[in-house]
Amino acid sequence: VVELRVHFDTLEVSTSKRVDLVNITRRVEEVVERSGVKDGLCLVFAPHATAAVIANEDERGLKEDIVQWLEESFPRNGKWRHNLVDDNASAHLASAFTSSCRVFPVKGGELVRGTWQSIFLVEMDGPRRRRVVVEVLGV
Ligand code: ZN
Repeated sequence: VVELRVHFDTLEVSTSKRVDLVNITRRVEEVVERSGVKDGLCLVFAPHATAAVIANEDERGLKEDIVQWLEESFPRNGKWRHNLVDDNASAHLASAFTSSCRVFPVKGGELVRGTWQSIFLVEMDGPRRRRVVVEVLGV
């Protein structure tokens, strides 16, 4: 019989721009360490309708490219119906189509990721305070 460990943690993240990328890799890895899980999965989830979680390279030009891509793909001044409610339809659309969660393997007590894969909270309607849920499941 193998006992399954489940470790749940919530990170508080402050964002500083309307569209912003915040590197949370170290903080997620600390949760994995605290969990004591050696082999399993790590879910990183933003419980927000106007934010997302991605894994990619922490390079200044690329981060600006990602912001540019989001702003061009989901223009703020589009004829969106939701703008009549609270004027942030572009942020909802960007969140819906980039995904609010990512899952990473955990092996040998460490989060598995590529050399150029940092974990980012992507803010699309900031600046504000956000929560990121990290759940580590395994043995
Ligand atoms: Zn809204």
